[in-house]
Amino acid sequence: MGNHQEVKRYISVPSRTKEILEKYGLRAKKGYGQNFLVDPVITERCAQQCHPEGAVIEIGPGIGSLTEMLARYAQHVTAFEIDEALIPVLEDTLSDYDNVEVRLEDFLQTDLDAVVKELKEKYGTVTVCANLPYYITTPVLFKIFENAEIPYITVMVQKEVGDRFAARANDSEYSALSAEGQYLYEVEKLFQVPGRSFNPSPSVDSVIIQFTRHETDETAEEIREFFAFVRACFKQRRKTIYNNLREYLGDPQKAREVLERAGIDPSVRAQSLRHEDLRKIYGEIK
Ligand code: SAM
Repeated sequence: MGNHQEVKRYISVPSRTKEILEKYGLRAKKGYGQNFLVDPVITERCAQQCHPEGAVIEIGPGIGSLTEMLARYAQHVTAFEIDEALIPVLEDTLSDYDNVEVRLEDFLQTDLDAVVKELKEKYGTVTVCANLPYYITTPVLFKIFENAEIPYITVMVQKEVGDRFAARANDSEYSALSAEGQYLYEVEKLFQVPGRSFNPSPSVDSVIIQFTRHETDETAEEIREFFAFVRACFKQRRKTIYNNLREYLGDPQKAREVLERAGIDPSVRAQSLRHEDLRKIYGEIK
């Protein structure tokens, strides 16, 4: 009669997530942007496609849904979790995996360069894969962008954020964010994730985007300076590039000359300039 041997289900199987949440009396904390993935097909696809050859860094393991899949594909996983209450839960749910290190730490405060250096020495490559807390999506990504040693970033974000990163010049969602992201990376939307794949279900859909780093020999400081210029170009979105540039340079004559040398029509808006065009203008200023 019946086989009573327990078959272990993945953490992201909805019934298993429910059991874990009940066992520990957990409720998703909105303040930390907690939405747990309850879809093993999605977690596995993320783990397969994030280039997990060496070490993978995860931001916000939650109860371990994605972490578990990453541990199955990668040599090593380092996961940063800010919520203290989740640490004993993760010790339990991930007890079968000895290649995971969970750090109780705010990712935004961590010395990422030091972490990446150490992991790269040990495991050869370091990539990032995460279901990002939506309230800090942009600062987390820009922190990762500052490290040139991470060739691939694969993240789940709200659909509208994904649209902004992937937007092309002249699209309505195209912004400084799009130009900056595309200057450093090839940006690709991998697939869409419906709200029902999460517990609790958010009202908006999400998307998995992948950033593949372009070769560049610029320092983080040089990139930061260029990004400040890009933001200045988009500062007053309805104004022309000439008007924004004039303000940035504090010199109308110079603004006119720079645009002429770069071969850019002074009457267009930043909205219609690709990152290559913005780089050309910046090159003329420098
Ligand atoms: N990875 C889990 C999953 O897919 O089910 C949870 C994802 S949930 C959207 C975001 C996670 O990030 C939560 O576990 C939350 O506590 C954590 N988190 C929020 N802010 C953080 C921060 N600053 N540093 C590290 N983790 C953070």
